[in-house]
Amino acid sequence: MIARMLLARRPAPRAFFCERDEWSFDPRYTCGRCPICGWAPAGAPAAPRWLELANRVDWELFGLFALADVLVVLGLIVAEAAGLLHGARRP
Ligand SMILES: [Zn+2]
Repeated sequence: MIARMLLARRPAPRAFFCERDEWSFDPRYTCGRCPICGWAPAGAPAAPRWLELANRVDWELFGLFALADVLVVLGLIVAEAAGLLHGARRP
């Protein structure tokens, strides 16, 4: 079982060799395919690791939460400037 886990974690080879074109290529930068004939080797990564991670993130939802955070901070700044947080100050 441990050997199976280690084999599963082993990274895929970076370079593949297309027999038809006699061309060596890195599938991470060619969308997982041979750039000449389009052959797709099995198990080849289609993108660099950072891009695969970035593609998993839902950036619209992240942007929505970031916008909500900014709006809360702006609301707190305005409330502080208006004296609403610590009670109204009277001169
Ligand atoms: Zn090819």
